[in-house]
Amino acid sequence: MRHFPISDPSNKGTKRDSGCAHVHFVGAGPGDPELLTLRAHRLIGAADVVIHDRLVTQEILDLTRPDALLIDVGKTGFGPSWDQGDINDLLVTYGAQARVVRLKSGDPAVFGRLDEEVAALDSAGVAYDVTPGITAASAAVAGLGVSLTQRGRNAGLRIVTGHDAKGFAEQDWRDLARPGAVAAIYMGKRAARFLTGRLMMHGATADTPVSVVENVSRSDERIISSDLIGLADALEDVTGPAVLLLGIAPRAGLPAALREAL
Ligand code: SAH
Repeated sequence: MRHFPISDPSNKGTKRDSGCAHVHFVGAGPGDPELLTLRAHRLIGAADVVIHDRLVTQEILDLTRPDALLIDVGKTGFGPSWDQGDINDLLVTYGAQARVVRLKSGDPAVFGRLDEEVAALDSAGVAYDVTPGITAASAAVAGLGVSLTQRGRNAGLRIVTGHDAKGFAEQDWRDLARPGAVAAIYMGKRAARFLTGRLMMHGATADTPVSVVENVSRSDERIISSDLIGLADALEDVTGPAVLLLGIAPRAGLPAALREAL
């Protein structure tokens, strides 16, 4: 557990001007600062306090004011992490007295516990707004030269998590195992064997394509083209954040060309 002196009025960068007291939930996108929205860029540069997740990159944190107070409330899927209640308390305390940016990787509304934080602000009467960001799945598929939905293949896209508060997350496996089904699986690295087992048990074939995209949009982005049976092995040396795209294979030959053009 980490502690932060939330009531210390001498904290660097904290303004007492309640006139602009507000919490802006801001999507930081997958990491590349060029994928920030203009609004996100402006709000990050104006914030007195930035409360951010572990996955927000240093290049984006470098856009904050030199005197801004930065608080890392990063959570890791399985490791030690901040208690959500403590994060809510931080937001309420600073949000009542400063211009706060609550900076979340990707889109704040995708696996971002946004509702819990909004509820805390609502009940404390603290004003807030939300700026969306590019979620990992959208940015991941950009490097593959294919789309998340495709006429004739999948009329729907599922965004699922590999694990939830109870452990490995259960899904509608029958639906996911159908030929042509596409799912973007977040937080799925450790759940790989479980996912493969569940999907195959429900009829998915061993050669169902799965693309793993690690460190999406960053200089060390890596695309691993796998199939369902090989997924756990393919993930063995993946240490960065990764999104698993079930039912998606990279378009042959295109990714390198796509990246060169940027
Ligand atoms: N709100 C975020 C998701 C947060 S959950 C979003 O919209 O993208 C954290 C999970 O998101 C990670 O475990 C990983 O699966 C995915 N993720 C976030 N950033 C990523 C990145 N740059 N590259 C690959 N996956 C990423």
